[in-house]
Amino acid sequence: MRRKVIAGNWKMNMLPNEAIDFIEKLTPLVKNTKNEVIICVPYTDLFYVLLNVQGTNIKVGAQNMHWEESGAYTGEVSGQMLKSIGVEYVIIGHSERRQYFSETDEIVNKKVKQALKVGLKPIVCVGETLEQREQGITEKVISKQIEKALEGIEQESLEKIIIAYEPIWAIGTGNTATKEEANEAIMQIRKKISEIYGQNKSDKIIIQYGGSVKSSNAKSLFEMSDIDGGLVGGASLNAEEFSKIVQFDN
Ligand code: PEP
Repeated sequence: MRRKVIAGNWKMNMLPNEAIDFIEKLTPLVKNTKNEVIICVPYTDLFYVLLNVQGTNIKVGAQNMHWEESGAYTGEVSGQMLKSIGVEYVIIGHSERRQYFSETDEIVNKKVKQALKVGLKPIVCVGETLEQREQGITEKVISKQIEKALEGIEQESLEKIIIAYEPIWAIGTGNTATKEEANEAIMQIRKKISEIYGQNKSDKIIIQYGGSVKSSNAKSLFEMSDIDGGLVGGASLNAEEFSKIVQFDN
């Protein structure tokens, strides 16, 4: 059976003092869960958060990284830099990065490769726009994103990768996909992974749903056959609300 993984994505929110407060509140609330808990925080919070999660079951991720090891890339942060301070996960290809920072499938692929190379676990985001869903091309779009993101990735690396299916029309809009829509898209992703890597790998890979997940809808979504937890934006900014999502099965 696959584990459930709940990851928070704070986006560009939370100053270090707020981040420390959050960890203090979240720690006792989630200490007994059997689900995996990750929070993906801004670069400027990483160090404080890493210090404050020591000895807890909360894991830490970044929200982006550069694909090169080092060099003249002013303002960028490398995977190695993240790894060196103890970061475990990194979100790659979030739709906000694709939309506002022109990240292409090729860039996503380079970042996934570099993350794996330095020992980070990528959370790779894919998802269609509302227009694409209305055109009936959701499966085609997400299959292509998966194919490109994983191009050249060895099958042994697959267990270090999490996929997040995040329909763009559901992110930050309050319009959650129905549990059936989310489950169906995730089954299509598994089918694509099975075509590339075989059924065994596709049965094992963790695939989350993301898009307006809240404590009120987490249980019905995460209990679906193919949904292995969630990537949570807005609702991850409140420790109590986030803890209820993490403990959807309690
Ligand atoms: C996200 O940032 O990945 C996300 C799904 O946001 P929200 O939960 O706010 O829709």
